[in-house]
Amino acid sequence: MTVQDIFKKLGLEQEQPGGCLSSASWTSTTHAGVVESRNPATDEPLARVHSCSKADYDRLMAGSQKRYASWRMVPAPKRGEIVRLIGQALREKKDALGTLVSMEVGKIKAEGDGEVQEMIDMADFAVGLSRMLYGQTMHSERAQHRMYEQWHPLGVVGVITAFNFPVAVWAWNAFIAAVTGNTVLWKPSPKALLCSLAVQHLCNRVMEDAGYPGVFALFTTDRIELADHMVQDERLPLISFTGSVPVGRHVAEVVGHRLGRSLLELSGNNAVIVDETADLQLATRAIMFGAVGTAGQRCTSTRRLIVHESQYAKLMPQLLAAYARVTIGDPLEPGVLMGPLIDADAVTHYRAALEEIKREGGEVLCGARVLPRQGHFVEPTIVRAQNHWNVVQRETFAPILHVMTYRTLDEAIQMQNAVTQGLSSSLFTTHLRHSEAFLAAGGSDCGIANINIGTSGAEIGGAFGGEKSTGGGREAGSDAWKAYMRRQTTTINWGTELPLAQGVTFEGGEKDGTGS
Ligand code: NAD
Repeated sequence: MTVQDIFKKLGLEQEQPGGCLSSASWTSTTHAGVVESRNPATDEPLARVHSCSKADYDRLMAGSQKRYASWRMVPAPKRGEIVRLIGQALREKKDALGTLVSMEVGKIKAEGDGEVQEMIDMADFAVGLSRMLYGQTMHSERAQHRMYEQWHPLGVVGVITAFNFPVAVWAWNAFIAAVTGNTVLWKPSPKALLCSLAVQHLCNRVMEDAGYPGVFALFTTDRIELADHMVQDERLPLISFTGSVPVGRHVAEVVGHRLGRSLLELSGNNAVIVDETADLQLATRAIMFGAVGTAGQRCTSTRRLIVHESQYAKLMPQLLAAYARVTIGDPLEPGVLMGPLIDADAVTHYRAALEEIKREGGEVLCGARVLPRQGHFVEPTIVRAQNHWNVVQRETFAPILHVMTYRTLDEAIQMQNAVTQGLSSSLFTTHLRHSEAFLAAGGSDCGIANINIGTSGAEIGGAFGGEKSTGGGREAGSDAWKAYMRRQTTTINWGTELPLAQGVTFEGGEKDGTGS
């Protein structure tokens, strides 16, 4: 299947893909060059996408600001109704969109489809949320006063996304931002521009039909200075950034300097602990999905396996046998479990990590080869390693699992927490006390802590995000919506006196007006 076939299925075949998009029709960009989208499974070009210039960016920003002025006045349930229609459009195009995700970023088809399903789930969640943007009321200490808080949108929200979740992460942000009354300016990864064009176009067609073009705008570029320009832009009160720690730190500094808000979803270094009571079959399946799924290119991928020493000899043969059965290949082929890495740089990082592991004295238990074929394919790899090694401490975005053993649960939790990242964690156990200790305040220090479930594959209903250098952001479900709104505390005096708070008197020593 070609990109043309997919775009035809998506109903976009008549379009001339420009890079800058804020309505249902493609908008021409100025002459800012093109970015090539490549298929990581073949390393062949898929398409060329027009880049935006700074002038294009400013044009998009002006449009987003203008639309914000009217969109914020649309009642939230009405905004939700339009997002419901977007969810419907995505349902209809799930198969084609899932295929495009597989083709452009190399996920297997089931995961590509899963990513689109995540967008649909987010749309459903946002629809319900649009009727539940609750504020609290408080009892005033002053007579005949009413106090409450209300939530208002922020403005134009800037969303910068990573390559590995090219559509779902935008939806986490965009659908919540939209029902809460913001408009959204999206800078996708230059490694996944086709996915962003397709999704943006589908969503904007629904918005335009509903009479609200311009709520979502797309800014395509591979130029760091233009991405930086966006981060510096004071017209964006919130930058939601998903990506690596070094870039995220830079974003936090720049946005912090201008006293804007940033919402950071950065790298993970996630561990699975398998204790002496664990169900090993369950653990094996979860570790496989966590470490091999998406070729180890999820922020929540399992990178460290911390096994009780009594279980090591039982677990490892099961795990190695499961690894031996992994079919690597074209992610669109049925039966394939692992596709390619995203590009040649990712393969270089995989190789470099393995060399470093060997230099440290690590033992390769399986894998560790770059496949001699077209595309960026590597073998899923397991190595015996030690937690404090630099190579284990950092996130290598590839399917390398570092295995280590422990004696006491305290030791295991300490090892798990002894990295700078704090995204996802998991314990396999059938021991109630172990489970509770892992989930207690002195247990896992991560944003996500699971029992008998692997580190990856979160549902959208919970707030997603991590601690420490993962950035502290929370997106998707629960009350993550509050990040996209400003809180206003309101006090209304409906009486005829002017009592001051804390009983303060201020007029010639008169008493306050609380009834005396
Ligand atoms: P990356 O940091 O290289 O790029 C992320 C985005 O930042 C891209 O859109 C890129 O173009 C942009 N960018 C680069 N320099 C910039 C700058 N100076 N100013 C503004 N934007 C800039 O990350 P990647 O390789 O695309 O993605 C992989 C990383 O993302 C991994 O570390 C992974 O753990 C992380 N990630 C985290 C989550 C999460 O929810 N915590 C989800 C997905 C990916």
